[in-house]
Amino acid sequence: MQLTVNESRCPQNHRCPAVKVCPVNAIKQEGYALPTIDQEACIKCEKCIKFCPMKAIQVK
Ligand code: SF4
Repeated sequence: MQLTVNESRCPQNHRCPAVKVCPVNAIKQEGYALPTIDQEACIKCEKCIKFCPMKAIQVK
């Protein structure tokens, strides 16, 4: 199981609010670019999935 950010759902025009929700700081974003998830750090708590208003963070 891996969490990914769906490029077609993320508008990439704002700071990702889910960055602050992640308890282990696994979500990184350069400027307004597509956020990336550090798979080593991610504990699969799925808080970001529930939080993202665009439903851009998905389980693969
Ligand atoms: S599932 Fe949890 S630990 Fe993993 S990136 Fe999302 S908020 Fe962070």
